[in-house]
Amino acid sequence: MVKPSGKIRTITTRCHACQAYIRFDRQPELFDIVTCPECKEEFEVIELSPVQLDWPSDLLGDDEWAIDEDGDHPSDGQGA
Ligand SMILES: [Zn+2]
Repeated sequence: MVKPSGKIRTITTRCHACQAYIRFDRQPELFDIVTCPECKEEFEVIELSPVQLDWPSDLLGDDEWAIDEDGDHPSDGQGA
């Protein structure tokens, strides 16, 4: 929901990587991906009030590249 208001609030938060301020030109939405203007790190919006960022979940976990090598799992050919 978007509440129309005459005030333009500048929303800022801090980069987790370099602590630079990241400004939002508009009200961010949950799970928006933002890029730090300083270190170009990408973050995901996990909280809106106040705005908090976290590293995108895609980057968490294993250090290895997560590549779907076997994304095709034929489900119709099974049975019997
Ligand atoms: Zn940064």
